[in-house]
Amino acid sequence: MGFFMPDAGYGQNHCQNPVTREKLNKNQSQNPEQDQMSKFNTLDDLSIGNKNVLVRVDLNVPIANGKVADTTRIERIVATIWEITKYGGKAILLSHFGRPNGKISPEFSLEIVLGDLARIANRQVVFVDTDWNELTLAKETINSAPEGSVILMQNTRFHPGEQTNDKQLAARMAQLGDIYINDAFSAAHRAHASTEALAHLLPNAAGRAMQKELAALTKGLGKPKKPLIALVGGAKVSTKIDLLENLLAKVDALVIGGGMANTFLFAAGLGVGTSLCEKDLAETAIRIMDKAVDEQCSIILPVDAMVAFKFEANAPHRLYGIDAIDPKGMILDIGPMSIQRIKAAIDDAGTLLWNGPLGAFELSPFDQGTVEIAQYAAERTKHGNLISIAGGGDTVAALAHAGVKDQFTYVSTAGGAFLEWMEGKTLPGVAALSQS
Ligand code: AMP
Repeated sequence: MGFFMPDAGYGQNHCQNPVTREKLNKNQSQNPEQDQMSKFNTLDDLSIGNKNVLVRVDLNVPIANGKVADTTRIERIVATIWEITKYGGKAILLSHFGRPNGKISPEFSLEIVLGDLARIANRQVVFVDTDWNELTLAKETINSAPEGSVILMQNTRFHPGEQTNDKQLAARMAQLGDIYINDAFSAAHRAHASTEALAHLLPNAAGRAMQKELAALTKGLGKPKKPLIALVGGAKVSTKIDLLENLLAKVDALVIGGGMANTFLFAAGLGVGTSLCEKDLAETAIRIMDKAVDEQCSIILPVDAMVAFKFEANAPHRLYGIDAIDPKGMILDIGPMSIQRIKAAIDDAGTLLWNGPLGAFELSPFDQGTVEIAQYAAERTKHGNLISIAGGGDTVAALAHAGVKDQFTYVSTAGGAFLEWMEGKTLPGVAALSQS
């Protein structure tokens, strides 16, 4: 076994720079889809005129007290809606909302977003309530709506065929429009009737939000500015094995932090006290570290840690070198030497990909490692030294907590789709779009 061992514990005053060489001929064609991400049709390639345009959007917005709690997803689709309606086209919006499991369920009616959608898009919006079996009324409503109208269709998941990618349902959907636009990257990891089968039935293109997301992601993994470094943190190795394996083949250095680092430290023979640790995954961790050597990828693990004796905010804590963790303590954050080491790696990097917090960032002061690194990456980005791309639910929350969510080059709010893209998987909703 060979890997980038954390060098001797806390107190050793040097910080070796881990990104010492670039991989040659890596990142070129590991995943053809990621190389091709920027090659599909966009709204510029289709003549929309006064056509009926089916637009798959993601209006699966969070709801609190019967109201839309976060309108980000609505804001992101406005550009596409405006472009379609500007010259008299009708924008017919298709989206899922929650998990009604193929049944008509009033609590999952998309009518709830109607007011916010109309306000943010600054357009009147017609709502078409349908079970997706009988679309005669829907067709009449669409055809009688004036040019430039916005029409919101009922939750696509009210029909069981949506989630089974049913071709007949897709064919019925296709009868409502002349063109298909997919503007829902966050739903593109699912092969559903409205994200996959439908794309094959009509001339199609990516909407502006999808285009922007894919362009940013292509910058990240498809054709990154090298050296490329990834920060992967979060709770568990078990949920991120595919991610780690895919990244090894592409990145020059991989920083592993958060609870998942403990499994790697344990596998390397170090004591991790009562820390979160998946001991049964020690062999997987060793395999990943071995693969890193084959792939010429430096693995950077914490060299020191903030250790507490309770999993709670402001719990008494102490700093330990990684080779001397108190057997009764739990690692809740990386320490200052580790922070310096990661900053040094970021200094050398052209592009940074980030998924998962480096510590239990919800609990002060164990947010310090994540916050310092986030702010450092934002600073390097601001000065034009770094392309920084982050994504995944907790990561977005951590960057917001650090006050830098808007200072990264790109932050993807598409949880599952972002992770699957980082894992190198083909996203069916992207693959189904025509190549330009
Ligand atoms: P994930 O969803 O896998 O990205 O995990 C995110 C969660 O990991 C957050 O809730 C963090 O609090 C948690 N986490 C990160 N580092 C640690 C740690 N050292 N010990 C326990 N939980 C952690």
